Amino acid sequence: MVETDTMDPTGTGSPPEPQAWPTATPRKRKTSFWTRKTNLPTYEVVGPLHRLDYRLLSNARSELNPGSEQYNAFYKMYPELEEYDKKLRPFVTEEQKERQKESLFGEEALALALNNACRIDHFLSREAEGPVNPRRVIMTPEKAARTIKGVARHLGADLVGIARINPAWVYTHSRVNTDGLRIGNPIPLDQPYGVVMAVAYHDFDMLLAGRGISLVGNIETDHIVFCLGAVLGVRMTSFIRNLGYNASYRGGRVQAVPLAVDAGLGEVGRAGMLNTKKYGPAIRLVTVTTDLPMAPDGPVDIGVKDLCRKCKKCAEVCPVGAITDRDEQENVRGVKLWPVDGEKCWRHRAAMGSDCACFYCLSACCWTKPQNILHWGIAEMVARSSLARTLFAWLDDVLYGHQPRQHKLPVWLRYSDEKPALKERISRFLHHV
Ligand code: SF4
Ligand code: SF4
Repeated sequence: MVETDTMDPTGTGSPPEPQAWPTATPRKRKTSFWTRKTNLPTYEVVGPLHRLDYRLLSNARSELNPGSEQYNAFYKMYPELEEYDKKLRPFVTEEQKERQKESLFGEEALALALNNACRIDHFLSREAEGPVNPRRVIMTPEKAARTIKGVARHLGADLVGIARINPAWVYTHSRVNTDGLRIGNPIPLDQPYGVVMAVAYHDFDMLLAGRGISLVGNIETDHIVFCLGAVLGVRMTSFIRNLGYNASYRGGRVQAVPLAVDAGLGEVGRAGMLNTKKYGPAIRLVTVTTDLPMAPDGPVDIGVKDLCRKCKKCAEVCPVGAITDRDEQENVRGVKLWPVDGEKCWRHRAAMGSDCACFYCLSACCWTKPQNILHWGIAEMVARSSLARTLFAWLDDVLYGHQPRQHKLPVWLRYSDEKPALKERISRFLHHV
């Protein structure tokens, strides 16, 4: 089960609710040259916003148990999806995924073992639901924000930001049984603040080998989301509850990407993922919602929309055409975005028996680079100059290739001691500078 970190994960939209959230009032944008903080969100609201039913996510639908109460309630609401989902369900059973994994990496016993050692979130989930301390610690919102961000970094978050939650980003119904909610229960709007943390992909050897549907992709995603992310989410939730406030992590109460934009972590890119200045889209988001009052961070303008208009690399490498290469954005449930066909993306993964994204869009992105002074310098220029964005998109093709190069498993994870071929060693070197 992987939460898809895109702004429009299903591409299907959701039925309108009686209450529509108001559109943003247009004001003049003011952006600080140094911090890139801006006074308006970097997505354009062009119509009424409606809350999304989390159960509409393709992978959430695949987890509904045929014949169960939740299954019947869901397909009574969305009968048009039942036939379609029935055909796909046999491809996404746990047994099918296991078979697929074994066939993909039958010879690679070390990688298979590491993958199977990745999921710790199930064991941690109980910890995320502890009691709230009756002795509440009182702080100013500014002090609370500083504390929460300090704790997030201490716990291992690579990026952290705080937002007051736009109710339109809160899902309508729960897709999991947690935090006192059962699948299908309405999600209350009782936690108005969001702590958004990002865990970055630091291991470039794994990232390069993870392109395409592969066990490495599974290992990396599971490692980042279900191990590092789970520890971060559970401990932050537990910390806030010990301060005497409510907090939720595993409920998946809120859409992570728009909340992360509001919290100033980055902007939405063409592939629907969050693009951050430092790590590009090579991150996974961990969100904790709470009623602890905190001073919010503002959004940032780092030039993502302009770069994505010029680059289009993710659209060109996507094997199933789920990402559009059009210049103009469209109205996607009230927000101007490049639409991403979440169903196509998920079907591609499901057909391969995999939970994880195929990594082509993520690893091809010209913003996904190893961390060094060269890339930090380029990212700062890209955030400020349209000319730098044009040059950057072109240079990335020249240096790293238009199509991502496929690498094999890192040497330490290969069963055989065979050394990588010269071509692969050169490619690895190029991707490390
Ligand atoms: S490149 Fe892969 S993960 Fe990205 S949208 Fe296409 S199918 Fe999905
Ligand atoms: S690959 Fe290019 S177009 Fe796609 S998200 Fe990255 S910068 Fe934007």
